[in-house]
Amino acid sequence: MTEVSTPATTNNAGNPIESDNESLSAGIQGPILLHDHYLIEKLAQFNRERVPERIVHAKGAGAYGELVITNPDIANYTKAKLFQPGAKTESLVRFSTVAGEQGSPDTWRDPRGFAIKFYTEDGNYDLVGNNTPVFFVRDTIKFPDFIRSQKRLPGSGLRDNNMQWDFWTLRPESAHQVTWLMGDRGIPKTYRHMNGYGSHTYQWANSKDERFWVKYHFKTDQGIDFLTQDEADKFAGSDPDLHRADLYNEIEKGNFPSWTLKVQIMPVDEAEGYRFNPFDLTKVWSHKDYPLIEVGKWTLNRNPQNYFVEIEQAAFEPSNIVPGIGYSPDKMLLGRVFSYADAHRYRIGTNYAQLPPNAPRKTEPQSYSKEGAMRYFYNGPEVPVYAPNSFGGPHADPERAGDGGLWDFDGKAVRAGYIKHAEDDDFGQAGTMVREVLNDEQRERLADNIIGHASNGVTPQVLERVYQYWKNVDPDLGRKVEEGVKAKLAEAGEATEPQTGDSSAQGGDETSAVQVGGRS
Ligand code: NDP
Repeated sequence: MTEVSTPATTNNAGNPIESDNESLSAGIQGPILLHDHYLIEKLAQFNRERVPERIVHAKGAGAYGELVITNPDIANYTKAKLFQPGAKTESLVRFSTVAGEQGSPDTWRDPRGFAIKFYTEDGNYDLVGNNTPVFFVRDTIKFPDFIRSQKRLPGSGLRDNNMQWDFWTLRPESAHQVTWLMGDRGIPKTYRHMNGYGSHTYQWANSKDERFWVKYHFKTDQGIDFLTQDEADKFAGSDPDLHRADLYNEIEKGNFPSWTLKVQIMPVDEAEGYRFNPFDLTKVWSHKDYPLIEVGKWTLNRNPQNYFVEIEQAAFEPSNIVPGIGYSPDKMLLGRVFSYADAHRYRIGTNYAQLPPNAPRKTEPQSYSKEGAMRYFYNGPEVPVYAPNSFGGPHADPERAGDGGLWDFDGKAVRAGYIKHAEDDDFGQAGTMVREVLNDEQRERLADNIIGHASNGVTPQVLERVYQYWKNVDPDLGRKVEEGVKAKLAEAGEATEPQTGDSSAQGGDETSAVQVGGRS
């Protein structure tokens, strides 16, 4: 810290105070007096210094940056102002782990959050991504169950590998993401050495109102790099804030990390015939089918001045969307459009959108929203508080607004899985990754990581499903996992076979089955 000026201390109301070192007492040995209002304010403020931590993505790091659009042709696909050729847009990013709490080590094996807020001329655009292009579940109704299975047991308060494998093997749609998680990319070397993916399928509309489905890829210019399990375990003890420190220190040094933004574009009428359901978040679109198209360069160049105000209180939400961009039938995305803003209302407060990291910077909000705790932004007294009215004030302008994405659906209320396309199943893309993307060393480390994790506190009943799960991904990998886990259990003198009960509860691919379907 550097030296600053030393003005007289005041309380929060600006009244000078007598002492910051001795509380007021009735005589030297007497009780502390309640009317020492500065002491009371100091203790009360201290008690309230924390807001509830995020239930997921609690531990993170963030910085400001700039997106510059380099590809003039991208305007053919979207009219969104931030993607027009030459556009420069200020942004805020928050990287994070998912399951750990505020003080948890940065190097736990976990996906990483990659949430970006772009301060555009049409208000904020938030892209709430991860460092993986896929996710563990495909319907938002499973999200709370999934997260609970990754957090802590109700009784002991301990994390529990058995819960994790129990859930994963009962929801085999998780196989693609778990393969990713157990591989090298499950522990990035730093936040700078990982890609970011919008993950969900979004819609773009150009100025002629032609529609495209789109997937975002932020490719790290630092190169992908990772930590082995052993390295990560050591850092968890010696340097739990490794990734937060790395990001902050590199930016302070002027070593600004950057990513090349690319997209995959699918004309809307190709979705129905594509070999994978393009809205299923457990699947990628093959690069061979939809090659990456360069959009621009995104560079982080400024640290926050106050971590709590600018990063802890930063509120990212996919409901922040701008004209030229819309949603898709991805049920995880549609759930997140509700749940993120709701989480911020609870965690930070009703008026979280007024705070500096969350307020739009290129435009003033013109809304009828009013009052609530901690409100300080308000319309002038002459502006009506309702619409429509006969006196003026904000009015909705469909010409300026986007439509949030349009697609056909048949209007019947159903509870159904995704429409199954020709090559859709739960294990196929995970198997492709294992056999066609990973090299021998990467496959070896993948098997070792699974064996290490699954041989630690997982019951033989659940393990039976674990072996089958990996055999479904890849028979050779499954065999290695079974042999490796059994050898470790035998070495530790633990049971390798189920003693009682039924181990046959394989979840199957029922989540892909369509009972009654809408059109994609
Ligand atoms: P490609 O061979 O064109 O793409 C494979 C991609 O896999 C690479 O471009 C790279 O994506 C990613 N990759 C490389 N090494 C690893 C690793 N150790 N762990 C995880 N991902 C890695 O084939 P397809 O596009 O047809 O995809 C084949 C499989 O690759 C998929 O089933 C999926 O599992 C995986 N994959 C596909 C992605 C996609 O969007 N198509 C993205 C990432 C993985 P990147 O350049 O994004 O790092």
